[in-house]
Amino acid sequence: MALIVQKYGGTSVGDVERLRHVARRIVEVSEAGNQVVVVVSAIAGETDRLLQLAHQITETPNARELDVILATGEQVAIGLLSLAIQAGGSKARSFTGTQVRILTDNVHTRARILNIDVERIRQALREGEITIVAGFQGVNAEEEVTTLGRGGSDLTAVALAAALNADVCEIYTDVEGVYTADPGLVSTAQKLPRISYEEMIEIASLGARVLQARAVEYAKNYNMSIHVRSSFTKNPGTLVVQEDQDMEKVAVSGIAYDKNEAKITITGVVDRPGIAAKLFGRVAEAGIVVDMIVQNISQDGHTDISFTIPRSDFHKASELVDGVAKEIGAGQILGDDRIAKVSIVGVGMRTHSGVAARMFTALAAENINIMMISTSEIKVSCVIEEKYTELAVRVLHDAFQLGVQPIGEG
Ligand code: ADP
Ligand code: ASP
Ligand code: MG
Repeated sequence: MALIVQKYGGTSVGDVERLRHVARRIVEVSEAGNQVVVVVSAIAGETDRLLQLAHQITETPNARELDVILATGEQVAIGLLSLAIQAGGSKARSFTGTQVRILTDNVHTRARILNIDVERIRQALREGEITIVAGFQGVNAEEEVTTLGRGGSDLTAVALAAALNADVCEIYTDVEGVYTADPGLVSTAQKLPRISYEEMIEIASLGARVLQARAVEYAKNYNMSIHVRSSFTKNPGTLVVQEDQDMEKVAVSGIAYDKNEAKITITGVVDRPGIAAKLFGRVAEAGIVVDMIVQNISQDGHTDISFTIPRSDFHKASELVDGVAKEIGAGQILGDDRIAKVSIVGVGMRTHSGVAARMFTALAAENINIMMISTSEIKVSCVIEEKYTELAVRVLHDAFQLGVQPIGEG
């Protein structure tokens, strides 16, 4: 008998028909003699709807209250899925994060899991019940409800699988696995049979929604492999696993993009020690996470600094930087919230040369201007004008020959 953790995302439980379909799939696995623990997300669009409601009341909702609101989405979903399984004649029981006791730290809206007490789940499994756990939520030491960041149900699933020492951790979604690029954007994108944790962490944090980056980091730390697959078909999906030598053979495994960024430039900054520390110290104090930073070579003792931040923090950051600029006597503040970041990712970059140059050449051939560049061992990212995002992703996908040959051209 295997212990299987399955996670179903929002679109997989998007309406009553889909809930019933998912319930049948779960029951099949259970009837084949497995113990099944299911993690479920809020019904598609629900978390966004709840967020919007909160923002209609106030532009700056209190994070504790936000978690109280956001956690309801998953609570509804577990109850509905449990009912759907029971309606088919099987035994099921739902648990909120608090009931399981998924203990987290106190950082509301992006809490970290500290510990999971699996005793109640084990007890339910012993009693022959399919166990349904609310994704995305936990509880802190003060009994306050917390949430784990957007896409956090993936993390719930991986952490539960690790805590239960599960045989399999399956993430069911609306595509058949992890592709060489977002299959919603690039029709020739190919499903990857396997991908390393490192590449998946990069692809996820560079904008691909398919898995939450923190969930993959957690899986890597516990060496828990993840099988990403479709809730609509039975085809095998993508295994997220430890890197092996074969994976370095291709230079680039995937392309990611992120339209959720904005750029701020401060011109005429005095070039002396302590200025960057002051500027970015203030930004950090405001809880704004900075992504890329570029500082130009100093001319006449002055320099320009550009950096990117999440688009949702653009106004807050602009106001703040305005204040700091006055204090340090800088020149102009230039803001741009119509940018996007396109990235190429692959562990093969460690051993292949000329990968970045190929990327820049491909973008140049389409006259796409690169505003900022950042690199790491296994990725290259470029900031470009937002309106070129789709074109850039497709062009890069072609340049690194990631696509399937269209029928008739093979
Ligand atoms: P769920 O609700 O199941 O958690 P998400 O919407 O969070 O699903 O993630 C699945 C979506 O991720 C897909 O519909 C797809 O559009 C998007 N996506 C972006 N990049 C990729 C990629 N490289 N491979 C697969 N899906 C991707
Ligand atoms: N419902 C949450 C979200 O939309 C968590 C998840 O879907 O994983 O972010
Ligand atoms: Mg998701």
